[in-house]
Amino acid sequence: MNYKEFGKTGKKVSVIGFGGMRFPTAGKEGEYDYDYCSEMIHEANRLGINYFDTAPFYNNDQSEDIFGNAIRNMPGDFFISTKCSSSDAYEMRKSLERSLRRLNVEKINFFHIWCVMDLDDYNRRMASGGAYDELVRAKSEGLVEHICISTHCTGDEISHIASEQKFDGITLGYNILNYKFRQLGIKAAHANHTAVVTMNPLGGGLLTSNSSRFNYIMDKGDDSIFESALKFNASHEEITVVLTGMDSIEHVRSNATNCAVIPGYAEKTKSRLLAYSNPEFDSLCTGCRYCEPCPYGVPVSKFMLAFNRKTLGDDNIMKNNIKMHWRINPELVHKCTECGACEKRCTQHLPIIERLKIIGTVYD
Ligand code: SF4
Ligand code: SF4
Repeated sequence: MNYKEFGKTGKKVSVIGFGGMRFPTAGKEGEYDYDYCSEMIHEANRLGINYFDTAPFYNNDQSEDIFGNAIRNMPGDFFISTKCSSSDAYEMRKSLERSLRRLNVEKINFFHIWCVMDLDDYNRRMASGGAYDELVRAKSEGLVEHICISTHCTGDEISHIASEQKFDGITLGYNILNYKFRQLGIKAAHANHTAVVTMNPLGGGLLTSNSSRFNYIMDKGDDSIFESALKFNASHEEITVVLTGMDSIEHVRSNATNCAVIPGYAEKTKSRLLAYSNPEFDSLCTGCRYCEPCPYGVPVSKFMLAFNRKTLGDDNIMKNNIKMHWRINPELVHKCTECGACEKRCTQHLPIIERLKIIGTVYD
C-alpha cells in the first residue's frame, strides 16, 4: 500500500480510500448484512487502507451506522470522513452530532462541507454565522479534526476555493475522462498545500462497462482498464487519496492491489490520450443523479446516461438503451420546460436541455 501526506495535516493516508456508498444489500433493497459489511471494512484496514469515507443518506442512510458497527473493533489505525450539505449552522451542528453518534467516535477526522455546486453555493456555506463557522467552532471543541470541502465546481472555481486556504482537503470527481475539466483545480489545491481526494475514478462505471471502447487508456503491462484508471489518479502528485465505492470483499482486495503510485504514469497517460481522446469524452454523464428530481417528471439521469451512448458514437444503441434498459418513454423529453433546475445541479455541468432536445430529434 502506498501512503501520502494529507496536505499539511501531518497525517499519512492510504492512496486508496474506502468509499462507503456501495455496500451490498442483503437480498432486499435497503437491508444490509452488517457483519459482512464489517468484514469488508476490516479486510480493507488489514490490507493497509486507513481512509474511510461515508455520509448521511449513503446506502439508504445506513452507511454511517455500518461504519459505526465496524470500527468499534477495527484492528488497525484509521481516519473517518463524513459530510453535511446544509449551509445553516444549527443544521450543521445537528448533522455533526448525529454522525458522531452513528459512527461511535468522539471526533470526525475529516468533516466535509458537502457537495458545493458553484461559487454562489460556496459563498452561502461560508457566510458569517453559517455552516463553515459552526465547523470552526466544532473544531475548537475537538469534535472535528480537519475541515474539508467536497465540490462539483469547475477547475477555475476550485482554484478560487483553494486560494482562500480555508480547508485541509478538497474532495472532487476526477478521472481519465473528465481530467481536463478539473485539473486546474487540483493543481491550485496542491500549490496551496491542500490534500486532494478524488471520487469517481471509473467515471461512474463508464470506463469498465465500455472497456473495448476505452482500451487505449491502458498502458503496457496493465491487466485491465480498472487498474489503469486507479493508477492514473493515484500517480498524480497533486492527488492524495483515490476513493472508490466497494461492494464486496473481493472488490476491496482488488482495489487495494491495483491502486499503485507509479511515478510519471499520469503524465504518460495524458500524452497518450491526446492522440485518441474525443473532446466529448470529458462531458459524459456519470449517473450521480444530483440533477433530480425534475419538477416536471423528466427522468433526467436516465436520458443523460443513454445520451452517453450517442456520445460514444451510436444513436441506435442510445435508442435501445432508452427502450430496453431504462424502459422510459422517449416522449418524456418533451415535458421539459427548460426551467434549468437540473443544469444548475449537474455535477458535470452538462447541457441537459440541449441534449434532451437532441434526443427528441433522434425520434422525429
Ligand atoms: S430543465 Fe427540463 S429536465 Fe431540467 S429540471 Fe427543468 S424541466 Fe426538468
Ligand atoms: S446529468 Fe449530471 S447530475 Fe445528472 S446524473 Fe448525469 S452527471 Fe449526474
